[in-house]
Amino acid sequence: MEIKLNEVSFSYNPRSQIETKALDKVSINFPEGKITSIIGRSGSGKTTIAELINALLFPSEGTIEYGSFLLSSKGIQNNHEINNLRVNIGLIFQFPEEQFFNMTVKDEISFGMKYFKYKTKDIDNRVKNSLKLVGLSEEYENRNPFTLSSGEKRKVAIASILAFNPKVIILDEPTIGLDALGKKNLIQLIRKLKMRLNKTIIIISHDIDLVHAVSDNVILLDKGKVITEGDKYTVFKNEELFKEYGMHIPKMIEFSNLVFRKKGIKIGYRDEINDLIKDIYRYVK
Ligand code: ADP
Ligand code: MG
Repeated sequence: MEIKLNEVSFSYNPRSQIETKALDKVSINFPEGKITSIIGRSGSGKTTIAELINALLFPSEGTIEYGSFLLSSKGIQNNHEINNLRVNIGLIFQFPEEQFFNMTVKDEISFGMKYFKYKTKDIDNRVKNSLKLVGLSEEYENRNPFTLSSGEKRKVAIASILAFNPKVIILDEPTIGLDALGKKNLIQLIRKLKMRLNKTIIIISHDIDLVHAVSDNVILLDKGKVITEGDKYTVFKNEELFKEYGMHIPKMIEFSNLVFRKKGIKIGYRDEINDLIKDIYRYVK
């Protein structure tokens, strides 16, 4: 499912002394089956976008299109539609595992589906499938979620969203608190969700190397405005712009740019370090 933000503005505490304009006429397309990342320093409005798309907030101005369906400052006509929307748009919050409150992984993943009154047999199947998808074996069903490693907890939190089979998945700062292995596994999982299941994925992150590893398109946000957007290679060419807005570009692209500046050799942009090394060997031979 494609999502479009049309000139969306949003203020917290509008018409009060503490009004904060978090978004200012933001227009973004999130194409179906692609991974789009939103980056930008803290306070730039990234999480606000995620909460608007999930209809936890309504735009102050502008609209959000989901296929034939429209969200505006008036919200949605009835709650049934809101539930429909939320089932189709899985939002994985920052530190989702902090919201765990069930004593088994199975209950944790089932909780949302019980709320939405799914049938027991359907729930059981969906728990199994979503655990498999995130790479946890069936034995995890009876584990206590609070005793898992940070990477495993994150996987359980993601599984509880995947169980709904949403068309769109939004991950807010998914690598925070993960170690190197947890991060590597997450990158593989995100790639799998796109390749095998054709999900529309939105990633919100400070982690420029994650963004580089998985994204198709990148949007740089600052003070509630879109500064630049496009496919990641085009966007990351502009190293100076990123510096200006308190960000750096991915190390691998920085390296390619440096080699080009200093040596006049164009080694190209690569997603995987191994491919980059092969390119370099080709030049030094
Ligand atoms: P990011 O996720 O990029 O760090 P946010 O979307 O959380 O940015 O915040 C954007 C702006 O809105 C910031 O100025 C922030 O202080 C403000 N803001 C966020 N949440 C609230 C809230 N619940 N009440 C008031 N202001 C908020
Ligand atoms: Mg945030």
